[in-house]
Amino acid sequence: MDERVYDIAVLGTGPAGLQAAIHAARRKVSVVVLGKINRSGLYSAHVENFCCIGSVEGEKMLAAGVVQAEEAGAHFLNEDVIETKADGDGFVIEPESGGRIHAAAMIMAMGIQRERLGVPGEKELFGKGVSYCVDCDANFYKNQKVAIIGNESSAVSGALTMLFYASDVYLVSDQPDVSDRLAEQLAVSDVKLFSGRNVRRIEGDEAVTGLVLDDDTRLNVSGVFIELGAKGATELAATLGVALDTKQFKYIQADKDQKTNIEGIFAAGDICGPPWQVAKAVGEGCVAGISASKYVKKKKGMKK
Ligand SMILES: Cc1cc2nc3c(=O)[nH]c(=O)nc-3n(C[C@H](O)[C@H](O)[C@H](O)COP(=O)(O)OP(=O)(O)OC[C@H]3O[C@@H](n4cnc5c(N)ncnc54)[C@H](O)[C@@H]3O)c2cc1C
Repeated sequence: MDERVYDIAVLGTGPAGLQAAIHAARRKVSVVVLGKINRSGLYSAHVENFCCIGSVEGEKMLAAGVVQAEEAGAHFLNEDVIETKADGDGFVIEPESGGRIHAAAMIMAMGIQRERLGVPGEKELFGKGVSYCVDCDANFYKNQKVAIIGNESSAVSGALTMLFYASDVYLVSDQPDVSDRLAEQLAVSDVKLFSGRNVRRIEGDEAVTGLVLDDDTRLNVSGVFIELGAKGATELAATLGVALDTKQFKYIQADKDQKTNIEGIFAAGDICGPPWQVAKAVGEGCVAGISASKYVKKKKGMKK
């Protein structure tokens, strides 16, 4: 198995993650950055309110940020993280293509999940069988039939996780788009794949009773997990015990040094809550990068 060791792992290649990587790498600690540039909220934005640069396309800002971070010494892996664990002396991070990354500190900058499926029944049955988080809710579906919806790593890894709980796991995927390793795991698993199809509606009154696909196939399920995009902040943070905001349980709580309640884990950007703005993401990323590098240097007995 491919094992790599870094001082700091930054999860997220949006403005928060990139700024964190730039500040950390310039302080002579080793930094790896994981995530997909084109999944950043900034990628398709046209920004006119960021200080000192006038009007600019988000895609250009991100490309420039990657070059700056690389020049500072950060290493980029263009893939999602599907698992994070504490390992006593730091953290183990599992990217979707396999292998393991060991890091003494981690900066969570994964933005927010904006995507909804937008089909009838989704809103009405949320919390009554419709969920957006396999890791949070899998336990409620022991020996039941469930469907996972999505094309990317969070849907496929979610379906594989669900096999430990549910009696039958269906994966509805218009066009699966994951690493070869996840695709191979899926192919030899007991997950029943419905590819090339979309969801037409989710059915049920008091609770989910089924799912109807656009070719009229009906799946009798009691759980529907909508997992669009990469594994979200809530899921990765929750498995590590990182505290979320007490009102909505959607955002990571971080102090003025961008530290979370878990030693060695820092957070920055949209993942810490509104306002969802590049200026805030960059500011918090800067602080997180500095705080994480100080933390690692102290731990290793390095000079400041
Ligand atoms: C259409 C649009 C227009 C906008 N216009 C403006 C504007 O004009 N001005 C402004 O200030 N703000 C604007 N924003 C908001 C701005 O884009 C965000 O506030 C900003 O991008 C937040 O940065 P971030 O780094 O926290 O998160 P993001 O930029 O969203 O980046 C999140 C990163 O996390 C990665 N990630 C997610 N899950 C995982 C995982 N499991 N493993 C690894 N990586 C993961 C993603 O690949 C991505 O790289 C706009 C947003 C949108 C959507």
